[in-house]
Amino acid sequence: MKPLSKLLLIVALLVSGCSSSLLRKNTTPAPLLYEVNLNDRADDLFKVKLSVNDLKSENAVYQFASTAPGTYQVMDIGRFVRDFKALDAQGNALKTERLSTNQWKIHEVERAREIRYNIAETWDTPVNEHRIYPMAGTSLEADHVQINGQAVFGYPTGMQNRPLQVKLAHPPDWLLGTALSRNSDGVFYADNYDRVVDSPFLLGQLTRAELDVKGSKVEIYAYSKSGRIKAEQILTSAKEVLLAAAAFTKGLPVKRYTFLFHFEDGNKGALGAWEHSYSSLYTFNDATFEQMLRQDIAGIMAHEFFHIVTPLNIHSEIIEQFNFVEPAPSEHLWLYEATTEWAAQIMKLRGGLITPEQYTQILNNKLNIDDNFDKSYSLSKLALTSYAPEGQKQYGNIYHRGAIIVGLLDIRLLELSNGKRGLREVINRLAKTYGPERAFPEKKFFDIFVEMTHPEIADFFERYIKNAEPLPIAEYYSKLGIKYAEEIRTGKQVAALGLGITLKEGRLALVGVSPEMQAQGLRDGDFVLASNGKPVKLETIQEVGQELKQLQPDQTFEFTIERDQQEKTLQLKALAKEQVDRHVFEIDPNAAEKQLALRKAWMKNL
Ligand SMILES: [Zn+2]
Repeated sequence: MKPLSKLLLIVALLVSGCSSSLLRKNTTPAPLLYEVNLNDRADDLFKVKLSVNDLKSENAVYQFASTAPGTYQVMDIGRFVRDFKALDAQGNALKTERLSTNQWKIHEVERAREIRYNIAETWDTPVNEHRIYPMAGTSLEADHVQINGQAVFGYPTGMQNRPLQVKLAHPPDWLLGTALSRNSDGVFYADNYDRVVDSPFLLGQLTRAELDVKGSKVEIYAYSKSGRIKAEQILTSAKEVLLAAAAFTKGLPVKRYTFLFHFEDGNKGALGAWEHSYSSLYTFNDATFEQMLRQDIAGIMAHEFFHIVTPLNIHSEIIEQFNFVEPAPSEHLWLYEATTEWAAQIMKLRGGLITPEQYTQILNNKLNIDDNFDKSYSLSKLALTSYAPEGQKQYGNIYHRGAIIVGLLDIRLLELSNGKRGLREVINRLAKTYGPERAFPEKKFFDIFVEMTHPEIADFFERYIKNAEPLPIAEYYSKLGIKYAEEIRTGKQVAALGLGITLKEGRLALVGVSPEMQAQGLRDGDFVLASNGKPVKLETIQEVGQELKQLQPDQTFEFTIERDQQEKTLQLKALAKEQVDRHVFEIDPNAAEKQLALRKAWMKNL
């Protein structure tokens, strides 16, 4: 809730145009007013103006974000800043000096009345490293704009907690989606910088749809470059999952929630989603709606939506007031991302949207992906090194191995409580105990969790979260009467390619070419141009992969490759190998009563 007194002051300020010195007399600091002219979109630059009048020497350094909550990546937004300046009341430029990638120092800062800069949109601005995720970046185009606060706004040091206002000038016929509220003049306001970063904007030629989920208002805004995907379609397909989510969290923990969808093709329109407290932003390729459904749009929405519980309502002191200056990792990524991913999947099972067989298929998929990561890398280590190149390489596994481990924790909790209290119930309890305003102590959280559950859980944390012992998947799932085999040799002969395809210098190239395939003329590092005449590119690689999977042993196929700038086409023969199925789950039809009882508890919201 926003305190009414502050709100009235802001409105008064806007209506009368009075100077903010009036506010200072009332000891409420003047909000920082940011204005961005989105009518000027020609050159990929956001034109930002910040009005100030009470900066002191301790506010002399203007800070841009080095990273942002929930992304676990280095961003260094200062890289995108152009033409930074500070002006006095007469419009004279004050001396400024760049101290570091993300910091500008303003001399004689007391005289500053305006800070102006241009900042390049991240989607269309090439960088050598730390490319910003599309869903966490910015885009400024003829018919739409995407703004993530940390990539447009900075703040004077010491003023991260100052309330702020955002005025966006844009074409009058555009729709605008954001979780921020606005006053009657159309100015958005936020309690502090963190909240603006937490509330992306999507505006332009959008479609909009709305749904009431048990008393909470859920809005969907969508931009689709081709116009093929509409907000209403997304709403229809996500309705069931949203209701399942509401049941899982015992009612939605917010009164209003905004989904923002950005569909656009090309390398910039990669798949991704970023969660916020009252909204989430999704970037997908601009496919047909049917293709979109195959990407499990509703499952991704459920994931981002569950983030309202964690980290919003259960988070460490480390991310309480976010450190935009230096990335500071929290060890409890297992709670923020792995638990969220587990919840997003199991809520579908418990909401009756999928069968146990379909749920184990999701587990199978996650374990197969986990096979490509370093299994000796613990979840704690992954969390603490996520900003380092080494940790970034393993980061993606938090959604796979991480979610598997959290699923095991749930089973262990159900077992120890005789089917009375699983992870969902513990998490909902924790959300009540802490909530958005109260952080948990980073170092003591494992102990707190053990304290409120069972002493045996300390051992679980030690082995499978802090360390990376082999996972007891078969043992744990058998408690539910579900059989698991890591590997089953089928004795059946199937085709094998004996090679992999990877990205090299921005192109697709061969990797891991087997001796048999080398004998047929292929080498590691060959660029792949075509497969059976079909061009092999990022956009087509999935389709090509599907076709190659259909090959039979000894069947011939054709690859066009490039090596040493020479193009050549080779006739190849698929290899034969024994089919080995990995990570096979089977619901045991002969499960004992005790197993069935625990499975029953596992399958519902207790
Ligand atoms: Zn997430």
